[in-house]
Amino acid sequence: MRYLSTRGHPDRKHFCEILLEGLAPDGGLYLPERYPEVNEAMLAELRKTYQDEGYAALAFKVLSLYIDDIPQTDLRAICDRTYTETAFGTSAIVPLKPLEEGVCLEALSNGPTLAFKDMAMQLLGNLFEYELDRRGAELNILGATSGDTGSAAEYAMRGKKGVRVFMLSPHGRMSPFQQAQMFSLMDENIHNIAIEGVFDDCQDIVKAVSNDLEFKRNHKIGTVNSINWARLLAQVVYYFAGYFQATSGNTEKVSFSVPSGNFGNVCAGHVARQMGLPIDRLIVATNENDVLDEFFRTGVYRVRGSADTYETSSPSMDISKASNFERFIFDLVGRDADVTRQLFADEVAIHGRFDLSKHPSFDLATRQFGFVSGKSTHADRLQTIRKVWEDHQVMIDTHTADGVKVARERRLPQENVIVLETALPIKFAETIEEALGIPPERPAKFEGIEGLPKRVHVMQADVVAVKKYINEHCHVAT
Ligand SMILES: *Cc1c(COP(=O)(O)O)cnc(C)c1O
Repeated sequence: MRYLSTRGHPDRKHFCEILLEGLAPDGGLYLPERYPEVNEAMLAELRKTYQDEGYAALAFKVLSLYIDDIPQTDLRAICDRTYTETAFGTSAIVPLKPLEEGVCLEALSNGPTLAFKDMAMQLLGNLFEYELDRRGAELNILGATSGDTGSAAEYAMRGKKGVRVFMLSPHGRMSPFQQAQMFSLMDENIHNIAIEGVFDDCQDIVKAVSNDLEFKRNHKIGTVNSINWARLLAQVVYYFAGYFQATSGNTEKVSFSVPSGNFGNVCAGHVARQMGLPIDRLIVATNENDVLDEFFRTGVYRVRGSADTYETSSPSMDISKASNFERFIFDLVGRDADVTRQLFADEVAIHGRFDLSKHPSFDLATRQFGFVSGKSTHADRLQTIRKVWEDHQVMIDTHTADGVKVARERRLPQENVIVLETALPIKFAETIEEALGIPPERPAKFEGIEGLPKRVHVMQADVVAVKKYINEHCHVAT
């Protein structure tokens, strides 16, 4: 299996060559040359694998279709190390919880940081460690976070050989629980940098450092952002696991409702569907930042400036452009790299938008690729959290609430919809209290976390100072 760029660069690469990379050299995103097809016999085999041997074995088989440059026994060991009951809380790893007739939740947030990003990031940590060791190389991961991504990355990379993490966050702006999660890590290879500023300031510093190519090379700077293909691939696995749990045979179909921001999660669903997993529809749920809903309704993709990007109570979906969206558009326009390049490198980059409403392919987004969408607001979120609690005594977080709201709105009679639960309520306690008048449930292992000692370095929003800090802390022998 080799990988191409959505913008037509002639190079073809193997999995481990793109593992540690971000964008392709032409600014495109990596995708496999073709999606491996899962036929009936293979689907039956995968179902049996999940039932008899568990999630790690299923992950190994799905990943093997895409990774041909890691020996099978090593890849199997990496999957076994990653998807354990200890790390994810249950032997099913991603168990289903029924709500009402035709709607259930798939629990993706019982990993170390209580958000679905652990599903991919935990694997990435083990893949990075393996590949860096093989190359005799090191990597300094630099990132900016407003919450979920940073903690998932730190918990995945803590204690890993050859990897250091420098994570910038806006000082005092994350929820107390999120701050406690990140700052209580005492691992020497994890560096929390709290910037006196907002998330955009953190993001700007990361960009400035990454644009200094010499610094970047000399300090072996890398990222773990959501366009990383390995992250997306890891997410494909739980669509299979959800499908197998929700059905008793491979002729049945299910739909997935996915709380969406950067389009990474639902893009993994798209990949699973293209492989032949019997997914009926992919329901994209957005919050007030409705870039994606607007596209699926109108054919116009219009990115927003920071003034038009709202701070909402489902903050991990507060995006102004969906960084993985180019992957889907590439498939939608018949894998035409010239058209894709024109749409993203010319129209979006220059005019901040493109319009496919009159393009013959737009119609296919729903008819052929199964996409529909909807939007949820703060009021919807509160109401949904309340209703699910009253009707089912199940407490859901704000992002999952967006998924449930849109699933209920879009569901057709007889349709079976799996809503992806993307975080646990404890991460967003304030809104849960607003909705229910009681504090959210807290998993036992996080009891008293806010009182733990903190390891964080507070700095001005100053690129030079951040570079100096990285320089002083990145050469420690591992
Ligand atoms: C990151 C995140 C999302 C959005 O996922 P995308 O892959 O960016 O679409 C939704 N919910 C939670 C809790 C998240 O952390």
